[in-house]
Amino acid sequence: MSDHFFDATRCDRCGGDLSTGRIMSMFNTEVICMACKEKERQRPDYRQALQADRDAIRRGDRNFPGIGMKKT
Ligand SMILES: [Zn+2]
Repeated sequence: MSDHFFDATRCDRCGGDLSTGRIMSMFNTEVICMACKEKERQRPDYRQALQADRDAIRRGDRNFPGIGMKKT
């Protein structure tokens, strides 16, 4: 986990307050709020992002940056 994850006070994506919760994006390295996380979950390629992340962990890649946010 990067220092940015703990240091960030604003959502990297929408600029929203992170005091109610923060989480790493499943698509890239942004630290996002729970509202943005919920939007990620609803993306059609969320499963793909999740699977890619699991695959990276399985092969010991701790710095996997994610599959990126494609335009939907
Ligand atoms: Zn946000």
